Amino acid sequence: MSSIRIVSFVSDKVNSLLVKEENVNWENQVIQELLKEEQLMTLLNKEADYVLINQDQLVYPRPETLDVVGVLAGTNQPVVIVASLEKKLDHSILEFSDKRNAYGKVYIAGFGPGNPELLTLKTEKLLHQADIIFYDDLLDASFLDQFAGEKHYVGKRKGQHSAKQEVINDLLLQAALQGKMVVRLKGGDPLVFGRGGEEFHYLSRHFVESEIIPGITSALAAASAGVIPLTSRGISTSVAFTLGHDAIHNKLPKADTLVFYMGASQQKVWAERLQEEGWPASTPVAAVRYASMPSQEIRRYTLGELVTAEKTLAAPSLVIVGYTATRDINAMGRKWLYTGTDIEDFKEQGQVVHNPMIAIKSLEMSNRIEETIKYLNRYDRILFSTPFAVRELFELLYQVGLDARALYRLKLTSIGEATSKMLKVYGLIVEPEAKNSSADGLIKSFKEQGITNESILVPCSTSGLQRLPQGLKELGNKIDMFSIYETIQPENVSRHNLDEFYGVVFSSPTTVRNFFNVYDYFPAHLKVKSGGKYTMDVVERIVKERGYEYGKNL
Ligand code: SAH
Repeated sequence: MSSIRIVSFVSDKVNSLLVKEENVNWENQVIQELLKEEQLMTLLNKEADYVLINQDQLVYPRPETLDVVGVLAGTNQPVVIVASLEKKLDHSILEFSDKRNAYGKVYIAGFGPGNPELLTLKTEKLLHQADIIFYDDLLDASFLDQFAGEKHYVGKRKGQHSAKQEVINDLLLQAALQGKMVVRLKGGDPLVFGRGGEEFHYLSRHFVESEIIPGITSALAAASAGVIPLTSRGISTSVAFTLGHDAIHNKLPKADTLVFYMGASQQKVWAERLQEEGWPASTPVAAVRYASMPSQEIRRYTLGELVTAEKTLAAPSLVIVGYTATRDINAMGRKWLYTGTDIEDFKEQGQVVHNPMIAIKSLEMSNRIEETIKYLNRYDRILFSTPFAVRELFELLYQVGLDARALYRLKLTSIGEATSKMLKVYGLIVEPEAKNSSADGLIKSFKEQGITNESILVPCSTSGLQRLPQGLKELGNKIDMFSIYETIQPENVSRHNLDEFYGVVFSSPTTVRNFFNVYDYFPAHLKVKSGGKYTMDVVERIVKERGYEYGKNL
């Protein structure tokens, strides 16, 4: 006579459902306790052949070594019989009616981005077989008219009564428990911002079989619509799908191409945030509304333009950010290496990789510096040649308890737009004298204006300025070069593969020298852009000295 040991964790009288066989000796023990996974497995391995347990009490996800032998009707909720897979019992000894035989199956299927032609063959076939179809915001629900099954809208369209996820889960479950073949149709792909996983597990927890059928996620349709390679050799090697509707709190992923779902209403907010996190204002952006549909619309911007755009696309839209989102395919392959400090100064189309070759270190306050700062009135004019000179001078003013008022009777000159931009930060509007930061341009301009006999202070780095002071002296001025900061080579500079670049941008002679301390080659195809003629001269000199290929094909 064989013996079956059953431990029951339920008060329901399910045992009556077990048809006792003649030769079986039933040992039944009832324990009223909640089971943890380890307890359950220990029990099954040592003390019991079967455990009867309320469905809700069974751990989920279920242990892999657990065999669900049957699901029985209980008084309040189904009761599950489990056994250990390791024991390899012959379950035929237990005759019971497994409710699962009567359950239907749920297919959680992706509808794709909206155009029915992008539906998979499998989903279409299932739609024909479905007893009941639960769908949400399909862009054109009339497509479903051709299918015989019952149709239920459970979407979350704005302004309409929105079905809560728990309600949807339960609707799916109830339909399956009634034995229906259910298709749960979801926009795009069920597992991309689709909560398809939650539905799957809810059903699975209730022993209802379900299957996920992938769909084309809307990002792919938007990318196709705008001919935007989400990845592209040498330009983008990673893509991230992210949420855009909570621009303040969501973490921005690190990837070359970003696709924002549900971000239409907050486009501007995160366009600003991306810039704060270092994405250049010139990064291309494409917004696509109703991708794949007849009403499809595409807008292109740069991140900077998006922030000030008058009208942006409304939902449902996707926004793609990255260098491959440009319409200018010639610019797309242009990857520039920018060696200066302020990447925003570089307005050229194309991808910009920041590889700063210069860092600024303030000088400690000294008697000499303090003397000069306190008596700026001795000068007629201050000439700011770089943004750093502005910043450092103001830092020093603050340190001795002064501010912008100390400059009130001085004439100010700014070289370059970036310098003027920095002056504005400190409340001073000074139009740039020489647009391309060139010394020659400035000397010429001073000459034309007849600036002579002035005492001019030039805040600068310890390495000073090369030709400017000489030129201004020749015009009859007294020049005081005022070293207030050092330019240093940044530590741990990354070395990129220059073969992949279209060109290199140098903002000053120092960036050139430091660049050639880091790189010991310079491919022939590289274009060079520089802050001024003198910077260019330094590039050419070093390239020539070292015999690099650069320039041979120019
Ligand atoms: N599971 C879906 C996404 C659901 S989230 C998928 O894989 O595509 C809903 C968001 O998807 C919308 O806010 C919108 O950002 C995007 N979306 C869905 N269909 C779209 C379409 N045809 N065109 C543009 N965006 C779409």
